[in-house]
Amino acid sequence: MTFEELGLCPEVLRAVAEAGYVEPTPIQAQAIPVVLAGRDVMAGAQTGTGKTASFTLPMLHTLRVHANTSTSPARHPVRALILTPTRELAAQVYESVKTYGKYSPLRAAVVYGGVSIDPQIAELRKGVEILVATPGRLLDHLQNRSVNLSQVEFLVLDEADRMLDMGFMPDIRRILTHLPAKRRTLLFSATFPEEIKKLARELLRDPVSIEV
Ligand code: AMP
Repeated sequence: MTFEELGLCPEVLRAVAEAGYVEPTPIQAQAIPVVLAGRDVMAGAQTGTGKTASFTLPMLHTLRVHANTSTSPARHPVRALILTPTRELAAQVYESVKTYGKYSPLRAAVVYGGVSIDPQIAELRKGVEILVATPGRLLDHLQNRSVNLSQVEFLVLDEADRMLDMGFMPDIRRILTHLPAKRRTLLFSATFPEEIKKLARELLRDPVSIEV
């Protein structure tokens, strides 16, 4: 199996080749076709399995279709939201999005707590299509109205079980009220305690389950 065979667009394939990836990892081989087909995903995957590319690559592929090169921030609504439990993971996912999106015309940003909010507000004002965020700081931005999530097409919950353990479920539920109901949702978790299963039943629409 190659990345070419997965049907990804040339911009994404070029970035993947430059990253030195020769073939998809098992989670990538399973998740990428499913996301490209427009389905929701519930994936059991630990870190180190290549899970970040398994959602980022098909997202970049899908979002490129309506990407535009306008400089007006209003023309660059948030179209993909990736929620992570920690700022370290948020920063890491953001770096991956930049690496894989090197040749894609989409803007990305990351927001997390523990640092000044003003530079993040300035960044968001420029218009951002792919936003990586930790839940608490994202809620601050929603309260400030420095971000609007009404055009989100993809929601990714990364390490959902860790977000649960860290007490983020109420924050996540509040964030969800800002998202359109018509969207795709991808849920990644290392473990599936009852509360994650319940969340998945509520959020995912006829999901494909993937276990690696
Ligand atoms: P992740 O599980 O997404 O944190 O990825 C773990 C590590 O695997 C990262 O350092 C990635 O750069 C690397 N990686 C992801 N996909 C591949 C691949 N298909 N081939 C080689 N390395 C990869």
